[in-house]
Amino acid sequence: MEELYGRQKGMLKGELSQLDDSFQCRKALLVTNQVSCQRCGSYFSKNENQLSSKEYYCPYCIQFGRLSTQTYLVTQNETKKAPREVRFTWQGKLTPAQQKVSDNVLKNYQKDKNTLIWAVTGSGKTEMIFSVVRDCLQKGGRLAISSPRIDVCRELYPRINEVFPKEETLLLYGDSEQKYRYNALTICTTHQLLHFYQAFDLLIIDEVDAFPYEGDKTLAFAQKNALKKDGKYIYLSATPPNHLLSSLKKTFCIEKLPIRFHERPLVVPQLIWYESWQHCYYSNWKIKKFVAYLKKLLEDNDVLVFCPSISYMQNLYKRVSYFFRSIKMDCVSSLDKQREEKVQNMRDGIYRVLFCTTILERGVTFEHISVIVMGANHKIYSKSALVQIAGRVDRKGSYQHGQVVFFYNQQTQAIRDACEEIKKMNRLAKEWIAS
Ligand SMILES: [Zn+2]
Repeated sequence: MEELYGRQKGMLKGELSQLDDSFQCRKALLVTNQVSCQRCGSYFSKNENQLSSKEYYCPYCIQFGRLSTQTYLVTQNETKKAPREVRFTWQGKLTPAQQKVSDNVLKNYQKDKNTLIWAVTGSGKTEMIFSVVRDCLQKGGRLAISSPRIDVCRELYPRINEVFPKEETLLLYGDSEQKYRYNALTICTTHQLLHFYQAFDLLIIDEVDAFPYEGDKTLAFAQKNALKKDGKYIYLSATPPNHLLSSLKKTFCIEKLPIRFHERPLVVPQLIWYESWQHCYYSNWKIKKFVAYLKKLLEDNDVLVFCPSISYMQNLYKRVSYFFRSIKMDCVSSLDKQREEKVQNMRDGIYRVLFCTTILERGVTFEHISVIVMGANHKIYSKSALVQIAGRVDRKGSYQHGQVVFFYNQQTQAIRDACEEIKKMNRLAKEWIAS
């Protein structure tokens, strides 16, 4: 019954008698002076969440199946696996800078150390984990690559599948088509880690600073639970916040990579004052400035337009499309059922302009693109978000004058910090290339 190797399932007391000694059973909820859930780590008082039978249940992870004081979390210890052959078919080549980081990450793992890879957007992070993934698999280990964002998982899946063609990699997210099965290599959203218990020898967490992961205690609890007792972490981030860096100081090795794959510097945002960006779609007069910039950017590249909310995006898109009748454009948000299709249309060059919310802030790559951020001073844009958005530009292919335009009508700390971090990384990259 491999299904429960490192996987936890809620079962009622009556069902436990059919299980042999190879299973571990833990109470799902512990009741002391308060109640704590062993799957998601949430706490609540004894006055809350009581069933009519006087039992308690956990409301915080109920979407993964209800756990109550009647339930046990059942898991099975994985039988030790032997070293094995792993088919690895990557044809690419790492740059010297990538090679250095990749070697260090592997070395750290072999010495039982955790690593944070702090690599700028477009530096080719994925390629740098291939050798450590391969090493873990060759030792008979089990690993997961996890991201808070579904789009990142979806984009990662075919790439990993291609280089490890015999692994039958599993892709798991909320409503993914694939059903869970036991295997060595899993790609999943961080929420899916709630189903695992001491499963992985290596847990790689991509975009560790991305919403909703950052600061979410449930997910932090889940990732701890999902790792084997002697398992190791690799975190990846282009924009680690200071509090993360200081919390990892003692337990992680930090490997920095300031150079992009093609060795061109990060594109520094142009800050353009736009007095009434909030209402610019109300009149042809107010939208003029936006239309003029869009026209100019379209001469060299396709354009992504980031908007602070869905309703704003729809209004802007509607108004702007009057001015560009011969150009195909669309808008996309997290609520969009055709989200994947639209992103693909943009990638295939069918659309020339895509209006979007922060869902496309990270993890996705388009060739020959410029970026506009509407209302860069809006509170939805953190420093990390702005750095990530700017990092969409000039990731791939030949240089095409990709530009980053921040429209704003108030200076914010996030805007200042984002521009400063981009310039700092560019300086560091220059030093690395020169050395
Ligand atoms: Zn829970």
